[in-house]
Amino acid sequence: MLFESPEEIYARVFREFKPRTPLPSIAVEFCRFANADSFIRMESGAIHVRISDLLEGAPAPVSEALAYILLGKLFRRPAARIYAHRYRLYLNRRDMRRQMHLVRQIRGRKFVSGPQGSHYNLEAVFEALNAAHFQGLLAQPQLGWSRAASRNRLGHFDPSHNAIVISRIFDSPTVPELALEYVMFHEMLHLRYPVDHTRARRRVHTHEFHQAEKQFVKLKEAKEILKKL
Ligand SMILES: [Zn+2]
Repeated sequence: MLFESPEEIYARVFREFKPRTPLPSIAVEFCRFANADSFIRMESGAIHVRISDLLEGAPAPVSEALAYILLGKLFRRPAARIYAHRYRLYLNRRDMRRQMHLVRQIRGRKFVSGPQGSHYNLEAVFEALNAAHFQGLLAQPQLGWSRAASRNRLGHFDPSHNAIVISRIFDSPTVPELALEYVMFHEMLHLRYPVDHTRARRRVHTHEFHQAEKQFVKLKEAKEILKKL
């Protein structure tokens, strides 16, 4: 498999998936995405693959693994686990993570609304929790409300933009402040405890993280409110 072009890799994997189907034309394009996304589509009998340029210099076995993953997706036949594992292992390498982080910073646009909502102020919530749980030592990231009042994503910490974004669903007089405090506390713990990247894994909520979360006094009550949002 030395010296195969990307198109040749996809052609070889295609034949493995569809040995009796005539080989379609295949175009592989590397694009300046804001992350390591890849896309595949079949259109009027031709296969188009668009891969993040972060992967342009990837070793052949990694490109091959991605070909199995993408063609598997196209034909609704999940790729063998070794390919998914190999691909994840590569993306999880320290140098790749650093590159992805940079690319997200440079290319990804981020909307952060600012801390003042119509009912709550995120800066005030952050400061109170910082004093109560972190000896006031956490540096304040950008704080903002999400555009939509999302129930699925109550909050997130974005390390590339050093921002905590809280769902606008909390910015309401009918939502008790305790629920907002808990979600903010959770995101502040993400600021405090880095993600664990061991082997192909990416563990966001480590044991340490969970232990620290238990320090939140009315944890149970807060979680009950979240269930009823
Ligand atoms: Zn979390």
